[in-house]
Amino acid sequence: MKTKLTPKKFYTKLYKMLENVTPLEIDCGQLCDGACCTVTDEVTGMYLFPGERVMYNPMPSWGEIQDIDFTYDGGKSVDFFTCEGKCDRSLRPLSCRIFPLVPYAKRGDKLSIIMDIRGRGMCPLATAMKKEDLSPLFVERVTKAMQLCMLNRETREFIYSLSETIDEIEKMGEDFR
Ligand code: SF4
Ligand code: SF4
Repeated sequence: MKTKLTPKKFYTKLYKMLENVTPLEIDCGQLCDGACCTVTDEVTGMYLFPGERVMYNPMPSWGEIQDIDFTYDGGKSVDFFTCEGKCDRSLRPLSCRIFPLVPYAKRGDKLSIIMDIRGRGMCPLATAMKKEDLSPLFVERVTKAMQLCMLNRETREFIYSLSETIDEIEKMGEDFR
């Protein structure tokens, strides 16, 4: 990674930044019975950011990394992390820490932080609220963390690919409306 920090130090820093902030001042898990952590029959999980797998060595008993088709930067594999619906909170992946927000950027454009369309229908916040309704501290920390990711080539390329996926999901939604 093109950063002065090693991946371990980089993600340790981001994890710490997002350790004690939550989308709402209250425990939003009470609104949905922890829907985003609920294991279903479908294979569900979250993308790890490039190099983030270093945080899972050794892999905790509650987690697993799987292969998926999703790639970034012209074919680099993205790690897909699955859990058992419970985790050591201090080790939860970056994608879990920022949900229901997600970074969005087209190549050459500025970064935006938006509500994650992938959470619609499952997460009450992503379904019915706007970013402005979330805890300002949470939004601020997610924004800062994602700005740091945009400074690093690998994580920036990942955000570009993720944004293309979000566009595709949005487009599919339009086609079915
Ligand atoms: S699904 Fe949404 S409302 Fe429920 S715990 Fe996750 S982030 Fe909070
Ligand atoms: S790793 Fe933790 S926070 Fe993330 S989905 Fe699993 S139980 Fe929820």
